[in-house]
Order: sequence, then C-alpha cells, then structure tokens
Amino acid sequence: MKILVVVDMQNDFVDGVLGTPEAAAIVDRVAEKIRGFDGEVFATYDIHNQNYLDTQEGRLLPVPHCIAGTEGCQLASAVSKALLERAVNGASSRLFAKGTFASKDLAEYLSTLPNVTEIVLVGLCTDICVISNAILLKAFVPEVKITVDASCCAGVTPESHANALAAMKMCQINIEDGQKGGF
Ligand SMILES: [Zn+2]
Repeated sequence: MKILVVVDMQNDFVDGVLGTPEAAAIVDRVAEKIRGFDGEVFATYDIHNQNYLDTQEGRLLPVPHCIAGTEGCQLASAVSKALLERAVNGASSRLFAKGTFASKDLAEYLSTLPNVTEIVLVGLCTDICVISNAILLKAFVPEVKITVDASCCAGVTPESHANALAAMKMCQINIEDGQKGGF
C-alpha cells in the first residue's frame, strides 16, 4: 500500500503571512495528486496558540501563523476540496495537527500500518516541514521507501527548496519530479 502525506497546505503558507508565489503555484498540482493517488492519504496541519511569539519557534520566526481558529490555519480550498472528494468516494483521509515541524503522531501511526510499500510527501515548506517529516519517517519506518515529489513542494526560497532536496537525497530519500518523471 502506498501512502501520500500532504504537509501543511494551509492558507498562511500559500498566500497568507508566510506565502510565496512558488507555494501558490503548487496548490492545483497537490490537489490533482490527491485526486489521482492510488493509496491512503494523510494530511498534516501546523497549528499554534495565541502565545506563539513566546515559543521557541515564535522567537526565531516572529511571524504569527496558523493560529487556531484563523483563516490562515485552514487548508487551501482546492486541497480541502480534493480531500473531501476522496471522502465522498469512500476513500479515507486523515488529518494530523502538529505544533512542531514534524508530526510524531503521524510517524507513529504510519509505523503501525501493515504492508506500507512507499510514503510520498508533498506540500510546504520543502525546507522546514517536508524535510522534517521525511527525516522523522526515515527513523520510524527505515524499511519503507520515502519519496518526495519535488513538483508538489515549495520552499521559503527557491534556493532553500533546492538545498533541502539535496539534503534529503543524501539521506536516501527518493526525490522525484511528478511533472517530469525523473529528477
Ligand atoms: Zn509553525
């Protein structure tokens, strides 16, 4: 069984306080990937409390984002629509909230599933939460192929996106480009 993990496709990272043109450009591709995926789909979302600026992440990145209950915390509408369509068609998708870069709950849960052959990650941001989740998954499920579809990811900058892909490749994460085939 293949697993798709959609990382933090939330308004604040797409076109909100931490949005980028590169992030906005992948939204439709991520929605397509969800629709066409043959396997289970999981999504993570970043969520912080009002005290965000008092946290370590907030001190190092003093831009309040994905605050619980805000529009910025919501998944991009095309992505939530694609997830809902799967539900309507009887395929499950499950959301994992996280207050840190990587979701330990998701990694733990995936490590309990039998017959997982590959975990594919897409989403935002390549250089923070995608790389954190990919490396965490390598530790939890070392015998499962971990793939990142670079065409469905965007970084804080194009340079740090490329750096993160190179770092993941070194850590034996399979980097693919769903748009071009190989990478
Ligand atoms: Zn955050």
